[in-house]
Amino acid sequence: MREIETTAVTDLVSRFYQEANFSLPADVLAAFQNALHSEKSPQGRKVLETLLENADIAARRRVPLCQDTGLAVVFVRIGQEVHLIGNPLAEAINDGVAKAHREGYLRASVISSPCFRRENTGDNTPAVIHVEIVPGEPFDIAVLPKGAGSENMSRLLMLKPADGLTGLIDFVVETVEIAGAKPCPPIFLGIGVGGTMDRAAALSKQALLRPAGEANVDLKLADLEQEILARVNALGIGPGGLGGTVTCLGVALEEVPCHIASLPVAVNIQCNCARRASGSL
Ligand code: SF4
Repeated sequence: MREIETTAVTDLVSRFYQEANFSLPADVLAAFQNALHSEKSPQGRKVLETLLENADIAARRRVPLCQDTGLAVVFVRIGQEVHLIGNPLAEAINDGVAKAHREGYLRASVISSPCFRRENTGDNTPAVIHVEIVPGEPFDIAVLPKGAGSENMSRLLMLKPADGLTGLIDFVVETVEIAGAKPCPPIFLGIGVGGTMDRAAALSKQALLRPAGEANVDLKLADLEQEILARVNALGIGPGGLGGTVTCLGVALEEVPCHIASLPVAVNIQCNCARRASGSL
């Protein structure tokens, strides 16, 4: 049995939430650079250059990449041989988010009671937490601050099996077309297929953790990702929504088994500010 103090979890979440807000992952920056070479539109290339400059300034000065510092989505993989000592896990994670907010001067972007009060909680808590119990003693954590501009344009549809891959692809393309410039393109797409509606939605978010440019290990799914990418980029929305050939920088599709009568499809749009940080204790 491995013992982990939850104060270490708090410190790790705080560090990751700040790092994610100040520095884009190397794979995202590489995707911007690649797009700079392939984008046909001059204004699209200008947007990409500005995004690269913005990322450089944010990393050097340790200031947020975007005014929207996001809702903290936290994925935890915890081994069943791990014993946590201290605060409950969710409390430790939320303490980390609040600490990051204080130390990193991150905008407080979370409100309580969305239906009525909509009062700012003041410290970016609570986080959305996904926990997976796995064999052994690992403790892996990934923090993904999610901006509302792209989250708001995400969609889920319970397709029928007869809709097939054509229905799936059409739904994804329609989702991006409806979104237009609102999710701050160039975007990334996390797509969750299968399970139930809640499982598909969580899977689409989890798919966004996959590094840009990394294809699905299943070759048929990898081909499907490429087909969706080509269809989405043919929309011509372009960087900043100003028109261009690069609307989307990467598609990550994950699937899980589902009911014989279902074909759930969730599309989680991630904006150009594709922040994430991950590691282990
Ligand atoms: S969608 Fe992304 S880039 Fe646009 S304002 Fe929100 S966090 Fe910033």
